[in-house]
Amino acid sequence: ETITIADLANRMSERAVDIIRMLMKQGAMHKITDVIDADTAQLIAEELGHTVRRVAESDVEEGLFDSPDPEEMLESRAPVVTIMGHVDHGKTSLLDALRKTNVVSGEAGGITQHIGAYQVQTPLGGLVTFIDTPGHAAFTAMRARGAKVTDIVVLVVAANDSVMPQTVEAINHAKAAKVPLIVAINKIDLPDARPEKVKTDLLQYEVQLESLGGDVLEVELSAKTGQNLDKLLELIQLQAEVLELKANPFRLAEGTVIEAKLDRGRGPVATVLIQRGTMHPGDIIVAGAEWGRVRALINDKGESTDGAGPSVPVEVLGFNGTPEAGDRVAVVENEARAREITDYRSNLKREKAAARLGAGRSSLADMMSQLKAGAGKKEFPLIIKGDVQGSVEAIVGALAKLGNDEVAARVILSGVGGITESDVGLAQTAGSVIIGFNTRAHKEARAAAEQAGIEIRYYNIIYDLVDDIKAAMSGLLAPEL
Ligand code: GDP
Repeated sequence: ETITIADLANRMSERAVDIIRMLMKQGAMHKITDVIDADTAQLIAEELGHTVRRVAESDVEEGLFDSPDPEEMLESRAPVVTIMGHVDHGKTSLLDALRKTNVVSGEAGGITQHIGAYQVQTPLGGLVTFIDTPGHAAFTAMRARGAKVTDIVVLVVAANDSVMPQTVEAINHAKAAKVPLIVAINKIDLPDARPEKVKTDLLQYEVQLESLGGDVLEVELSAKTGQNLDKLLELIQLQAEVLELKANPFRLAEGTVIEAKLDRGRGPVATVLIQRGTMHPGDIIVAGAEWGRVRALINDKGESTDGAGPSVPVEVLGFNGTPEAGDRVAVVENEARAREITDYRSNLKREKAAARLGAGRSSLADMMSQLKAGAGKKEFPLIIKGDVQGSVEAIVGALAKLGNDEVAARVILSGVGGITESDVGLAQTAGSVIIGFNTRAHKEARAAAEQAGIEIRYYNIIYDLVDDIKAAMSGLLAPEL
């Protein structure tokens, strides 16, 4: 019996990063997607104060999310795509333009509702699901909660502006999530478009496009004129075929909440991306600590539907309360079961809130002492933000020299500018500390870091910074003041 760290965290309403940290303490380096055995999971649960609940928990949540599907039940499903890129490079325009190409089964106008995600037919005949929220916040928020929704990231880079800080950020997020990129070089209708510069600039960030001999798919397009949108859809389908995306549609549905709101007339409305199984009206559903009976399913064209299968986004009416974006959704057998699960989860939530007050925080010091306790080569993830490119490069270079056989610093993101909420999201997913060099954290980022227990360390002298990391590596770091 095994469970992924993400699922374990989800079941306990704990943060995956805390579990990863505890495993580190025991000498094992893990990613959020790794699978651990039941005994280890029990130890973790106990250490997190769920001792008594361990058995009850497996009783309560048995079968949710982790039961495997028989091979013969698997059918191919549409890829789920998130569009990322620098501000003003055309993410929203591209999502709007793609939405307009939505003429599934020749519907006049192909008008879609904004429900948080929509599907488009590609010229090759397949369907693609787009998450209708541009930007990185949604992506990282979902990942930080252990929900893996995106199969492919389309990275939009404006041909007249080339690679900018959020382009790099998007590349890092996609890499951390191990999600393949397709590069859409946008605004090629502009006279000052320089697509070749985009291609060579991307090389610096280890994104090697096909036209330069690499394996990253690319297309030059214009969200404004619509040029090559069909090509982009084709590439997405090709990439999806390589990924062999499959799911079992013949089971109780499971999915993830993409958006949720309390609608005046309709009550709680959640847009759910179905990930396996098929959801029907009348189904009893749970999401986080909320449950309900599906009253209606509304598709991205605003029509009510009697079944939504894998990769289909659908508005779900009938929740008794409003779930949160990133919550996993599951259909359960009956109301009693739904109550049991949600009661249990609301208890956990309360306990967790109480426990968090005294909980250990993520800091460089305890990260290193935990790393020290383990066996084998350890990497420790860092996010570096600085005021200018030169100093960031100098810091990254200096840190690279620090490693030895046992331990090495791994810079998962470095960049120029203030520390953003998105950086904190990435730190949370990767279990890393954030270092600011002559730069500060934005107000929202500070709050998010505080909430998540992510340490942000500030420096204005490279020597001090490198010295601290070095000291930490030898386990000599003075406790945080
Ligand atoms: P976002 O911030 O990445 O979502 O960017 P937007 O979609 O809001 O686009 C920013 C600006 O670029 C807007 O004024 C768009 O009209 C413009 N824009 C987007 N795509 C294109 C394009 O392909 N060609 C041209 N000329 N302008 C574009």
